[in-house]
Amino acid sequence: VFNFSAGPAVLPEAVLERARDELLDWHGSGMSVMEMSHRGKDFTAIAAKAEADLRRLLDVPDHYRVLFVQGGASQQFAMVPLNLLPPGASADYLDTGTWSVKAIEEASRLGRAHVVASSQPTRYTTIPPRADWQLDPEAAYVHYTPNETIVGVEFLEVPEVGDKPLVADMSSTILSRPIDVSKFGLIYAGAQKNIGPAGLTLVIVREDLLGHARRDCPTMLDYTVFAQHDSMYNTPPTFGWYLAGLIFEWLLEQGGLPAMAERNARKAGKLYAYIDASGFYRNPVDPACRSWMNVPFRLADETLDKTFLAEAAAAGLTSLAGHRIVGGMRASLYNAMPEAGVDALISFMRDFVQRRG
Ligand code: PLP
Repeated sequence: VFNFSAGPAVLPEAVLERARDELLDWHGSGMSVMEMSHRGKDFTAIAAKAEADLRRLLDVPDHYRVLFVQGGASQQFAMVPLNLLPPGASADYLDTGTWSVKAIEEASRLGRAHVVASSQPTRYTTIPPRADWQLDPEAAYVHYTPNETIVGVEFLEVPEVGDKPLVADMSSTILSRPIDVSKFGLIYAGAQKNIGPAGLTLVIVREDLLGHARRDCPTMLDYTVFAQHDSMYNTPPTFGWYLAGLIFEWLLEQGGLPAMAERNARKAGKLYAYIDASGFYRNPVDPACRSWMNVPFRLADETLDKTFLAEAAAAGLTSLAGHRIVGGMRASLYNAMPEAGVDALISFMRDFVQRRG
């Protein structure tokens, strides 16, 4: 089966096999990772190696802390303002889709979220031109969503926002290509797409942004507490952390992020090329910002949507339904989706047009 789910999403087969082999007895310890104390030497070694491998993959500079948090990316929508937005201050937010809106709504509960630009008028099929962004010189930070998972819009470049800390929700793009971490104040990502199982959230934060949480910030929502306790103030999601470590090792074995970028560009490129040439399928997103990770598409005859999904599932191509907000189809092509999966999808789509188009 090729699983095109947007998340929780496909994981590399080799990683799942290794986790299965180690499940009952981790390296002769006689214990499963799930049974180990997070403060014991076995688990602390697993945790440290995962962080070191992630730092290698993303070339994370020394003055950034890597935090392993729970609560999903949705919790970060609140943690970011709780830690970076002083009472009475304002932060800049770019609105490029559903996930941006959720981040804006949550920040608005805690302070002022100023929307610098929105692509809502194009139904989120574009990115507002940088020249149109109304940045506030007093803003505490600038937040954006580099990849909007639902509409399939992705920034191909990191925007320039002057000296303000740039905060990015990288949930559905992290590890898909190299990034220059030093351009960001803070990066966060839910794990369940390119990192590992749901339940773990990754935060990469520049050290000078720590120590500024508002006074009423709950302990478990304070980045500084996570940094001071190596993400073990309380019991961390140990199994998710372990599995993320296996994914990081797998990525390094694949040639790291440059190799993933090459593969991801090729996978998405061939699917968009087929959709555009098909005359039957359509992707509405401006080609200048089409996502490598999430490819939404519509059929010329939408009464065939259910048939398409059923026949695709029967052919071993699962989870192709678009998000319930937008309908249609969506193929998510995260790192663990092999190129053969994309080839199989295109071949099925071509065959479907011949039979039903
Ligand atoms: N941000 C983006 C870009 C997402 O794609 C998602 C989930 O799909 C979220 C945030 C919410 O993540 P979580 O379910 O981990 O809270």
